[in-house]
Amino acid sequence: MRKNIIIGNWKMFKTNSEAVEFVKEVESKLNIGDNLTAGIAVPSVMLSDVKKVAKKLIISAQNCFFEAEGAFTGEISIKMLKNIGVDHVVIGHSERRDIFCENDEMINKKNLALLKENLTPILCCGESLETYESGKTKEWVKKQITEAFKNVSKEDAKKVVIAYEPIWAIGTGKVATPEIAQDICKEIRMMIKDLYDESVSDVILIQYGGSVKPENIKEILSQPDIDGALVGGASLQVDSYLGLLK
Ligand code: PEP
Repeated sequence: MRKNIIIGNWKMFKTNSEAVEFVKEVESKLNIGDNLTAGIAVPSVMLSDVKKVAKKLIISAQNCFFEAEGAFTGEISIKMLKNIGVDHVVIGHSERRDIFCENDEMINKKNLALLKENLTPILCCGESLETYESGKTKEWVKKQITEAFKNVSKEDAKKVVIAYEPIWAIGTGKVATPEIAQDICKEIRMMIKDLYDESVSDVILIQYGGSVKPENIKEILSQPDIDGALVGGASLQVDSYLGLLK
């Protein structure tokens, strides 16, 4: 049986002290069952301090660079993340693809580099409103998935968490219906089966992301091919975050 994984994506919100307070408060109220992995992806400047106070929550980075080191001003290496105990990294978020011009090739390099160092990539994919409305979601996502998994071995592929996030549902309040989300997540599982086999597609975790809130998470997670959620806005307040995990 696959576990559920719920990760908050804080984007560029909160200060270091606010983040530490948040984690302390959440952890004091939190009871995570064996079937759930819960965490937050925080801005890199606060990873180290937050990691020191987090005992139950997974602390994820929101990005990394694929080169080991060098003249890459402003970038963060996997070695740096490993050194402070971070073991999950979000890659390929639509905001990084759109605003920071990250392409499938770069995301594939990040995926490979993280897996080589035994970190867990949370690999985002998803289509724009225009692609959705033109009925091309499946082919769009297939290209993203196929490129991201290029040269990834079967054993490593099992460790990737995929987050399907339709861009038109991110931060817009427009949530994809559970049926739409299930349809695409099921399709992604089939893509993984075609790239590898059932031993990978049966175990790989697939999250849905896009305006998930405490009020709609239960219905989304009840879908057979959805194993969790990547949550932006609703992960920023303690009560709301705890509501997601209930
Ligand atoms: C996200 O940032 O990945 C996200 C899904 O945001 P929101 O939940 O706010 O739509």
